[in-house]
Amino acid sequence: MSHPHPELQKPPKLAKGALRVVALGGLGEIGRNMTVFEFDGKLLIVDCGVLFPEEHQPGVDVILPDFSWIRDRLESIVGIVLTHGHEDHIGGVPYLLRERRDIPVIASRLTLALITEKLKEHQIRPVRDEVAEGDRKSFGPFDLEFLAVNHSIPDGLAVAIRTPGGTVLHTGDFKMDQFPLDKRITDLRGFARLGEEGVDLFLTDSTNAEVPGFTTSERELAPAIEKVFRTAPRRVIVSSFASHVHRIQQVLDTAHEHGRKVSFVGRSMVRNMGVAQDLGYLKVPQNLIVPLAQLEKMAPNKVTLICTGSQGEPLAALSRMANRDHKIRVGEGDTILMASSVIPGNENAISNVINGLTRWGANVVHKGNAKVHVSGHASAGELVYCYNIVKPKNVMPVHGEYRHLRANADLAISTGMDPKNVVLAEDGVVVDLQQGKATITGKVQAGNIYVDAQTVGGVTEATLKDRRTLAEEGVVTVLAIVDADSGQLADPPDFLVRGFVHEPKAFDPAIQVIEKTLAHAAREGIGDARQLEQMLARDIGRWAHKTFRRSPLVIPIVIDA
Ligand SMILES: [Zn+2]
Repeated sequence: MSHPHPELQKPPKLAKGALRVVALGGLGEIGRNMTVFEFDGKLLIVDCGVLFPEEHQPGVDVILPDFSWIRDRLESIVGIVLTHGHEDHIGGVPYLLRERRDIPVIASRLTLALITEKLKEHQIRPVRDEVAEGDRKSFGPFDLEFLAVNHSIPDGLAVAIRTPGGTVLHTGDFKMDQFPLDKRITDLRGFARLGEEGVDLFLTDSTNAEVPGFTTSERELAPAIEKVFRTAPRRVIVSSFASHVHRIQQVLDTAHEHGRKVSFVGRSMVRNMGVAQDLGYLKVPQNLIVPLAQLEKMAPNKVTLICTGSQGEPLAALSRMANRDHKIRVGEGDTILMASSVIPGNENAISNVINGLTRWGANVVHKGNAKVHVSGHASAGELVYCYNIVKPKNVMPVHGEYRHLRANADLAISTGMDPKNVVLAEDGVVVDLQQGKATITGKVQAGNIYVDAQTVGGVTEATLKDRRTLAEEGVVTVLAIVDADSGQLADPPDFLVRGFVHEPKAFDPAIQVIEKTLAHAAREGIGDARQLEQMLARDIGRWAHKTFRRSPLVIPIVIDA
């Protein structure tokens, strides 16, 4: 199979009649999915998501794909297809539309409703183009056909992209639940028909490529959910992703059967369930939902709360309940049902929430002790099935960390694909489809763009390195007043220390270091404050490391006296 060479260069000009595919996100990470297709000078985008930061990226809200490669060609974008409404597929759209507001947003009914709500918060009214499975519609040179796929949010679509340069089938996120709650199964007949017609490049979801077998049906959770409601002595508090309409449907139905009432808690949960209910994706039994204020007055064994925070997000309802920082006070006899996955990287946060809730006396039912979650992604068995049905000419695994992409590539090869036609790409790697053959031809810029409160891209890798240093090593600020004529200290320097050894006398020996550095600078004729600061940072840093075996962030401030 072809791997991206570490020293790939800028790609050549796209050959006439060739189709270019560049993933700007989602290849090498779970999140910020974004794939750009280029044909005859026009661009089509599929998805534009966000990635959530990890512990080594402190203070970052979300991470966006890097739009640099398309920034000076925004006018050439004919549309953006959103395969489904998950944040890792739509979360970046507001930031893209800030750069050009009238890019047509092409998506299914629910996905469009969710992105429209999100865009309201950014004061953007999108140009909407609603599509459904079975639709076929052209945007510039891209002839698009949409196919139903089943996933952990309703109304997901795969998209077939026909161009004179070849036909691509992009699955988006999908699985092959044969008994979905909405009876809308992944359109394998459509996949097969496209296979007959000829799929030149197959882009398929790698998230669960390492998981053997088949992803079990959403319906298999019913017994465990039912048991929670049957045995809970007092309140039932359910946490889930705010987009998992079918999971929440199961909870609503079970609560209703057991004569309980329900309130939604948390902004995104209330908003999304409102949208899903308005559009008929969530079917709510009459009088089931009551306002929280009313619910709080009811007998605890008649109460169900559905909230966000299944990933231990510090500001979400469930974490705040665990920390006694929420008006809902969890106590003895309450049952918490965490009906969701554990996204890698969130294990500690989730464990802390479970411990916190348990400490208040609650019984916590979660993925680790009951069958209360199934994945939204196709496992190895389903992927192999798809390769055999589609029989693509070339394969490019998408959506996953490198190991998942590799596992997916191996699955394709196991079905008889020629390894030469399996392309392992990463973010920014340019893949050109020409005369039926997909080839890596270069690489474009595709770094992490950090969103930090109101700034986009203001926080860089260097900023994050400083933040990690501050967190792990502390900071030492040195205020040195230097006599401009002699180049010597005019006064003893001040040391301001945070998160580091705090003995008042600990820094006395550093005064000699400063004196030595200044003397050296004076001999060399260096008097510029900026330059002196750099020298002091280096020398004090070395001294601190030698003395304390620590590397605090050293910030010298030199003032001319
Ligand atoms: Zn998804």
